[in-house]
Amino acid sequence: MEDCLFCKIIAGEIPSNKLYEDELCYAFYDIDPQAPVHFLVVPKTHIKSADELTEENAGVVAHIFVVISKLSKELGLENGYRIVNNCGQDGGQTVGHLHFHVLAKRCLAWPPG
Ligand code: IMP
Repeated sequence: MEDCLFCKIIAGEIPSNKLYEDELCYAFYDIDPQAPVHFLVVPKTHIKSADELTEENAGVVAHIFVVISKLSKELGLENGYRIVNNCGQDGGQTVGHLHFHVLAKRCLAWPPG
């Protein structure tokens, strides 16, 4: 996707604070952290949002959750964390490339705003 910010980050065209990368996904710290630990995990394939997942492309989501579990151990998030996906305009999505926020190291309120 030519005009996608996260595709450009994955391609190295825009710098990022990279945490992890494999053949399917890329993890990097959020530029505007909302918690002491706040990173994003994105599929390398351009998928616009969770609403565009299908039986064919959704396998990467399970992979991302396994990666998050591994990263949580490496980062010492033993007290827990929150995985967030904002989907579409009313869901608060601002970047049109599927991504999962991981927030940790503070007590997170519920319900979210
Ligand atoms: P959304 O609002 O759920 O779509 O999340 C988009 C996230 O991307 C926000 O938390 C932004 O702070 C983050 N973000 C935007 N641009 C960059 C960047 O260049 N590097 C890292 N994070 C970014």
